[in-house]
Amino acid sequence: MPSPSPTRSSFASRLVATSRRWFDTQAAFDQADREHPDGATGGRHRIDWLRAAPFIGMHLACLMVLWVGVSTTAVAVAVALYAIRMFALTGFYHRYFSHRTFRASRAVQFVFALIGASSVQRGPLWWAAHHRNHHRHADTVADPHSPSQRGFWWSHAGWFLTHDGFRTDWERIPDLARYPELRWLDRFDTVVPVLLAAALYGLGATLERFAPQLDTNGPQLLAWGFFVSTVVLFHATVTINSLAHRFGRRRFETRDDSRNNLWLALLTFGEGWHNNHHFFPGTARQGFRWWEVDLTWYGLRLLATLGLVHDLKPVPTWVLARMRS
Ligand SMILES: [Zn+2]
Ligand SMILES: [Zn+2]
Repeated sequence: MPSPSPTRSSFASRLVATSRRWFDTQAAFDQADREHPDGATGGRHRIDWLRAAPFIGMHLACLMVLWVGVSTTAVAVAVALYAIRMFALTGFYHRYFSHRTFRASRAVQFVFALIGASSVQRGPLWWAAHHRNHHRHADTVADPHSPSQRGFWWSHAGWFLTHDGFRTDWERIPDLARYPELRWLDRFDTVVPVLLAAALYGLGATLERFAPQLDTNGPQLLAWGFFVSTVVLFHATVTINSLAHRFGRRRFETRDDSRNNLWLALLTFGEGWHNNHHFFPGTARQGFRWWEVDLTWYGLRLLATLGLVHDLKPVPTWVLARMRS
């Protein structure tokens, strides 16, 4: 029997390696280090399409709605999961893990890391490390996702599908890397999303059996609650990388192109006040005026009232004094 051609066997080994990476990101780092030992080859910015397959598959899976139909129950579950996961991303992945703008117990930190991890935006360590690099190098060549440097699509959905984008920069997050439970969420970042998808299917099947008046079923809750909700959540989140560095007002003369944009603030629960945020990232609040709607800030205030988080860092008076409008 002839041996397989080198092209076919290397494709097969890449497929096996990539499949492992989908479940164990440590395997990805090991593999990537073998492929790019000096960390400076031209492939670093090339999109790894095999690695990107699940991301594309998530979008295609939304077409399931054509077959499973729609119900009030399914849409309500999708909206609720959008809201709670957006809050976990903005309040915790961003304002807590990336910027440390308030304090929380290890248990509360873990619960919101878990909810954030169900968003299919990787683990909190990866998210925070890239975000800290974004602030450090905003809109320069070293920014991981600058629309002025590399265009809209790159800043929106290209940057994280590459060798560099896939890797967690451990040097940026020593304060977070000391928690083994967070490292675990980062390493096995598909586990929580898969559990959520399975739970939604199970919930739908249970409701179909015991509450038929709700007019839903397993495939329908999977399609709306997981695929549609997660894909919309993803695109809403990354508008802050792409659109909030292009469209809106600049209150502060920051060194980057960040903007304040009401529509993006509504969509992302307050993150659209991005020029405010780039000027002073050290506060838990991003809407600096009373009318700058910031749902995440209101949610964090509520959690503080309940005693679940504390020491929310306010906007300093010197920052308020610098506001021209
Ligand atoms: Zn930014
Ligand atoms: Zn930030």
